[in-house]
Amino acid sequence: MLSRMTARELLSGLADLVLPSSCGGCGGPGGGWCPACADATGGPLPVTLPRAGPTAAAGRYRGPLRRALLGYKERGRRDLAPALAGLLVPPVAAVLPVSPPGPVWLVPAPSRPGAARMRGGDHVARLARGLAARLGAAGLPARVAPVLALDRRARDSVGLDPAQRAANLAGAMTIRAPGPGGGPEPDAVVVLVDDVVTTGATLRTCRNILRRNEISVSAAVVLCDATGGSRDGPR
Ligand SMILES: [Zn+2]
Repeated sequence: MLSRMTARELLSGLADLVLPSSCGGCGGPGGGWCPACADATGGPLPVTLPRAGPTAAAGRYRGPLRRALLGYKERGRRDLAPALAGLLVPPVAAVLPVSPPGPVWLVPAPSRPGAARMRGGDHVARLARGLAARLGAAGLPARVAPVLALDRRARDSVGLDPAQRAANLAGAMTIRAPGPGGGPEPDAVVVLVDDVVTTGATLRTCRNILRRNEISVSAAVVLCDATGGSRDGPR
C-alpha cells in the first residue's frame, strides 16, 4: 500500500501518529472531517454501473476523500469512521424512495478475513454501523445485516482484471446467518454499502448472491467513485 501513497499522504500519516485529531482529508487541525474538506467532497454522485442497480457515491476517489479513506482503511485512523459514515447519508437519500416502508437494511460488502484482521476489524461493517446510527438520528430507521462473507479462497484483487475480479469474488463470497439482530425480510429495502467502487464487480456479486437467497437489493452506496480509471485497494 505504501508504494501507492504520495509523499504528502505519508507525511500526513506520520503527523497522525503524533496528532491523531488532525482532519482525515487535509491533515489540518480539528480532527475528523473539516468544513473545507466537506465542501470539496462534492457528493452525492450517481454512479452508472451495468447490472449493479442504482448506486451513489459520496465523492470521487481523489484528494481529501481518498486520503481520508486510505487513512481510515490502511493506517489505523478508526477515529474517522463517524465522519466517513456521515458522508454516506446524502448518497442514501439520493438512491432511496422518499419514505421507505419499514427499516432500511444496510448490507456491508465483505472483506477478506485476513485483510480485516490486519486492519483491526471489518472497516466497511464499521462504516455501515455508523451510517445506521446517522440515518436513525435523521429519522430513517436503519439496521445492519452483515450477511455476506468472503472465505479463504478470495485473493487480493490488486492486479486482477475485471473478469478475474468477478470470478475471484463469485467463487469466494458466501451468505451467512444474520446473527442476533436478525436479517432483512424478502420485501425489505436493502442497500449495499462499500468503500470504493471501481468495476462494480463487488456490488454485482453481492446482489447476485443475495438474490439467490431471496433478498432483493434496492440500491448501493459507496464512499468513493473510482470508476473513472483509478482503482480500489485490496478488499
Ligand atoms: Zn480537511
